Amino acid sequence: MERVHNFNAGPAVLPEEVMREAQADFFNYKGMGLSVMEMSHRSKEYQAIIDEAYAAVKRIYGLGDDYDVLFLQGGASMQFLMVPYSFLPEGKQANVINTGVWSKKAITEIKKLGKEVHVAASSEDRKFSYIPKTWQLSENPAYLHITTNNTIYGTEWKTDPDVPANVPLIADMSSNFMSKPIDAKRYSMIYAGAQKNVGPSGTAVVIIKRDFLETAKEGVPSMLDYKLMSSKGSMFNTPATFTIYMIGLVLKWIEDFGGLKKIEENNIAKAKYIYDAIDASDGFYKGAADPEYRSLMNTTFRMATEELEALFVSEAKKNGMIGLKGHRDVGGCRASTYNSLPLPAAKALGEFMREFQKQHG
Ligand SMILES: *Cc1c(COP(=O)(O)O)cnc(C)c1O
Repeated sequence: MERVHNFNAGPAVLPEEVMREAQADFFNYKGMGLSVMEMSHRSKEYQAIIDEAYAAVKRIYGLGDDYDVLFLQGGASMQFLMVPYSFLPEGKQANVINTGVWSKKAITEIKKLGKEVHVAASSEDRKFSYIPKTWQLSENPAYLHITTNNTIYGTEWKTDPDVPANVPLIADMSSNFMSKPIDAKRYSMIYAGAQKNVGPSGTAVVIIKRDFLETAKEGVPSMLDYKLMSSKGSMFNTPATFTIYMIGLVLKWIEDFGGLKKIEENNIAKAKYIYDAIDASDGFYKGAADPEYRSLMNTTFRMATEELEALFVSEAKKNGMIGLKGHRDVGGCRASTYNSLPLPAAKALGEFMREFQKQHG
């Protein structure tokens, strides 16, 4: 076996075609006699790489010139800080829907800045096993922030939320970025750490509506300044050049795959192998998320004892399937089936789950 079935939550599996293309160009990029890693970010060759990546983000989500795309360092976690720093003026409240650990981290950063945050809804009462259907905005909301896929619990927003026109909608899409068609124009800002669905770690992809960008606070520290980053094409300082190159290859792979509709169909088929094994198990596997909100990206389940779960993870590994241990905060098992995970890997896991149940049920 050359490659394992990789169910890691992030950094995660990348498409085989992308890995092979990067490998072919690794030592000597397109006959230039150097690697992308060794190139100046100010060279015209690198500019072409990053420009194509920007364009691909917009093409895939069907966005025009009223949106800008940035590749920023510090991961999605830096966005937890940058958003309130720039878009949360005195007297207004950040509104956040709390659907788990990542939402909480976003809330923590707002509080650390000493700014006002209003939790508009929360699913903490049932261990984040669902997505709230309704929410209550504060008096004077600066924006509404949601986490569209909850990587740790395996819950996912199934629709783009409706918000009043005067309330900018901001989404952390780290773990379901480009995994299905969305109404991207509904969002004033979308951000995602690349390492789940579109590349290696080291960069957050940020999509921002230009009229929203215009409202960013002036005079913030340079590295936190969206307007500055935008005016410099994400090259105020040296960007994560190789990561962005890899993102570009993954975006091309998504387009070659047939775009988001096809990607979604494939993601549904993959998740189905696993959810079907859960649902057919007579309670041997217990799905952690309410069926209505089950994530296509992270399937989470528990078994009767922690010993059995540990055995499951180790037996799976012997069968070439890795990354199935649940997040330390919730335990159990989790299979991440991001865009790049091949269909046969998910099928193999579904079959393994049924076999494991036969032996241990
Ligand atoms: C992984 C993850 C993050 C953190 O991303 P970093 O790039 O490591 O900062 C934030 N939000 C969600 C939903 C995630 O899955």
